[in-house]
Amino acid sequence: MKKIRDYLVNQSLQRKWMLTSSAVIFFSYTIICIVVYISLHTWLINDEQSKIKLTSDDLVSFLESQGPDLTVQQIQQNTGLLKAIVDRDQTVRMYNVDGIEILSINNTSKAAPLSVMHEIVEMTIDKKDAFVINEPIQLGFFKGYIQVVHPLTKFQSLMHYLLTAMLIAGVGGLVLSASIGYYLANYLMKPLHALRSSMKTVMDKGFNEPIQLSYTSHDEIGDLLKMYNAMMNELQISFTKQQQFVADASHELRTPIQAIEGHLSLLKRWGKDDPEILEESIDTSLMEIARMRKMIEELLELARREEKDIKSEANAVAVLEAVIEETRLLHPEARISLSKDEEIGRLFITENALSQIVRNIMENAIRYCEKIPDIQISLSVSEKEVVIKMEDNGIGIAEENIPYIFDRFYRVDEARNRQIGGTGLGLSITKMLLEKYNCSVEVKSVKNVGTVFLMKFPLKN
Ligand code: ADP
Repeated sequence: MKKIRDYLVNQSLQRKWMLTSSAVIFFSYTIICIVVYISLHTWLINDEQSKIKLTSDDLVSFLESQGPDLTVQQIQQNTGLLKAIVDRDQTVRMYNVDGIEILSINNTSKAAPLSVMHEIVEMTIDKKDAFVINEPIQLGFFKGYIQVVHPLTKFQSLMHYLLTAMLIAGVGGLVLSASIGYYLANYLMKPLHALRSSMKTVMDKGFNEPIQLSYTSHDEIGDLLKMYNAMMNELQISFTKQQQFVADASHELRTPIQAIEGHLSLLKRWGKDDPEILEESIDTSLMEIARMRKMIEELLELARREEKDIKSEANAVAVLEAVIEETRLLHPEARISLSKDEEIGRLFITENALSQIVRNIMENAIRYCEKIPDIQISLSVSEKEVVIKMEDNGIGIAEENIPYIFDRFYRVDEARNRQIGGTGLGLSITKMLLEKYNCSVEVKSVKNVGTVFLMKFPLKN
């Protein structure tokens, strides 16, 4: 048993399936055959016994019914009636009290010994099996015996035929069940083979090869493949995003590094003796380093993507007031106003995330403004959500650029915005945080008039 188990463990699923199903079918078939064979054998043997018993009883009662005056001669001359009682393959003999045969009907079998009386005995007569019954008989003054020999040849050939048929059907069934098992296993394993080869392709070639699995049935394997496909697509998208992120980040970091490198080379060649170049190069390098530090911090913020905390809640008024206060300290010239509904419930977002969102939009409102910044913030509440509207009087964004402002490293006016210190990451972080807490954002802008950010935050509970 252990050996069979060890052998099966290392076989392919296909072979396991085929062997197991064939073995189960074979064993079930064998048990059914044994039961059928034994039952049929018992029933047929009983039938044969009742046949011989019937013949012998009928003979005895027929002879006894002929009256006490019946002579042996009369019986010998009238065997026709007796023949009607005896089956064609049975042999009946009549013996006198000394065991000498005085009559024989059919004579298809040789005589058997007269040893046992009344009982049906199985014997081999002339190499053939047969049932034999001996009955003592008394007709008037005549005393003797009647012997019936009932050959079992028909019964044995029937059983032999049955056994052969069962064996042939068994072997045929085994071959058929193994073939069906093999075909079925092959059919069911096909999608798994496809899955394995798709996994191998991903392992060998990475996510560059498209994943194509054509199995569409709605069964367990179909569900598994669907999940695998969805998972791989998700991974593929996230892998591509990751690659893009790294490529964008290295590209963006290269610019300030090149600027610093240029200034340091300049300093090395001429700058040491020219205080003007020295001053300018150091200032520019410091500015680039500050930009780089900001970019790295923002990149880390984007990469962190913490899990959403379901216990998060924020007091919108307190957060807005704190950010406004902070901005006023840094930009005392800016005019910032806040209007709000009476009762503002708690928002489903962390205070940290909310203040970062508001701060990013506020910083942009001040940064992209050529007049005295005038920022109007309003807070209104509806049944399920809170709407925060932030309106500025900045340079505005052209309509065709609005769809891209949330993309990483996107800047409307690249050269100009670099100078005023933008990294192109602020709104990406804002969008990422808004999506994390199922909030929506809408942007409306008119060039040289201003921009409006309309955000909807779900209320806690
Ligand atoms: P940056 O660090 O360059 O400000 P952001 O992701 O915050 O990056 O913004 C992307 C771009 O969208 C900015 O470079 C700017 O061109 C434009 N933008 C964002 N906010 C405003 C605004 N309030 N007014 C005008 N332009 C804006």
